Amino acid sequence: MSDYEKNIERLYQEPIFAKGGGVCRSPWDIDWQDEPFSPRDETLISPIKLPGIMKDIWEKGEPTKTSAVYIHVPFCRLSCTYCAFYKKQADEAAQHAYANLLVKEIQSLQNRPYLTRSKISSIFFGGGTPGILSAADISSIMEAIHEVLPLTKDAEITMESSLSDMTEEKMDAAISCGVNRFSFGVQSFDTKIRNAVGRPLPREEVLKKLSAFAKKDALMILDLIYGLPGETEETMRSDIRDAKACSMAGLDLYQLHILPNSPLGKQFKKWGKSLDIAVLQSLFRTAEDELGRSGAANISCTHWKWHPAERSLYNTLSSSGGDILPLGMACGGQIGGVGLMKPMADAMYSAAVRMGKFLPMGARQSSRYRAFYKAIEGAGDRGVIEPARLAKETVLPADLLLTPLLDIWKSWGLVTEAGGVYRYTSSGRYWYRVMIRRMMHAADYMLFGKPDTKKKAHWGGMMNMR
Ligand code: SF4
Repeated sequence: MSDYEKNIERLYQEPIFAKGGGVCRSPWDIDWQDEPFSPRDETLISPIKLPGIMKDIWEKGEPTKTSAVYIHVPFCRLSCTYCAFYKKQADEAAQHAYANLLVKEIQSLQNRPYLTRSKISSIFFGGGTPGILSAADISSIMEAIHEVLPLTKDAEITMESSLSDMTEEKMDAAISCGVNRFSFGVQSFDTKIRNAVGRPLPREEVLKKLSAFAKKDALMILDLIYGLPGETEETMRSDIRDAKACSMAGLDLYQLHILPNSPLGKQFKKWGKSLDIAVLQSLFRTAEDELGRSGAANISCTHWKWHPAERSLYNTLSSSGGDILPLGMACGGQIGGVGLMKPMADAMYSAAVRMGKFLPMGARQSSRYRAFYKAIEGAGDRGVIEPARLAKETVLPADLLLTPLLDIWKSWGLVTEAGGVYRYTSSGRYWYRVMIRRMMHAADYMLFGKPDTKKKAHWGGMMNMR
């Protein structure tokens, strides 16, 4: 018996795993024993060693099969009450200066061996609100991308934007230089709900803008959040019908997370309030039901598509462990087995770019089992888990590890099973984050043995991680 098999035997003698990770009264009523997860062998890299490590990656590092680039644009003129992202106040001159820095940073990567060996299948402009940039700035950045980065022929290039910042003129400019997917943080179509969380446009205006954008030669995606104050089953159904009526290609459906540093988090604290799980679940079930009626296909636990060309490549790639090169300030990524965080301070970022340097502010050496963890996470994120295939792909006994746990979840109604393939039910998709963490803890036990229970991990500021 291998050490892994011995650890799996011990793992299922631990009450937490033997009982499936919680107490189940019904698929929607589970007391999970949930805890945050980070791989046990991940380590911080000392700032002294980092330049040498980065040099090695650029020269000799082996890229993942396909990879992505994340481009951060931190500017935003909105004040959404649930937002605790790092952001900078909208300012045309500062935005233009930042776009110039991005162009310089991309140009500084020209001919780096690591990149010339890479196949970049996805670029994601995130923020902030990247759609706040001028048409000319978007064009300059895209020009630099085409000059320097080895994009695959069918690369997905997504630009996030608030609806109020995107215009047809900017969209035309972006499409003409290769952006082929736009993602709008609509969150809800209902005017009252939108206004209460800081989204200015009324429903009629949202419908008008989205319908006009949908006629362009690019895929249009929107985000909805369930759990916003004032949402009901009726508004949820109406939101999904509105999204379909505007000819959206796809939709991301996220649960509201209350971040303590957001205005909403502070209000909740002051009122001693927390999110009502029964309400969240009824909104989620309603949304799933309406998405099903609308003919949307579910491609992950948070993403649905109506258009056959919609792929959601960036999300798929990031949850399954592909390289993500972070460009711009205050963002993170992962290349060559090293997790990177870019500078938060303007001065540090701009000085590095002017010197022609790609400068992370901090870095972590990823787990040597990252591919294994990511294979599990990617399957858990899609909601389709095939333990035998995971075992074959990762050359680790994922089947022995996961099958007993998945069988317990099957008896709880969280997954169905046919021919060794486990698929989440609606309640499984609702609980998917907890289930991924449970599988990650099981993987950690198999790889390293019983963890030191005195070492407590932290949630990092989320008030409702489930
Ligand atoms: S648009 Fe995005 S970055 Fe701006 S406040 Fe809203 S959530 Fe935050």
